[in-house]
Amino acid sequence: MTSPSPDICPHCDQPQDPARTDDHIRTAHADIPPCTATLDNANTDGPLACILRAGHPSRYRGPGNWHISALGPAGRTVWSNAADGATPHRDGTPDGQP
Ligand SMILES: [Zn+2]
Ligand SMILES: [Zn+2]
Repeated sequence: MTSPSPDICPHCDQPQDPARTDDHIRTAHADIPPCTATLDNANTDGPLACILRAGHPSRYRGPGNWHISALGPAGRTVWSNAADGATPHRDGTPDGQP
């Protein structure tokens, strides 16, 4: 294992200590509703929830809408909406509804 590289917060583009990214996002960006995307498949130990905020761009794995789980014993899980068992983020007010 190499030392972890800093996370780049997708909401303010600032590098974060990986151990504190979750706190940073929860507090510094508390004004943005949470991303509700989840991942639940045979490789996850129970459902994983995205720690980022709604509408987050991806700065973590390049282009695409990658979601990031909380930091666990084996590091973070990063997934896209196309992953097996992924549920995309849903806004409380769906588009196209009057
Ligand atoms: Zn930030
Ligand atoms: Zn997400």
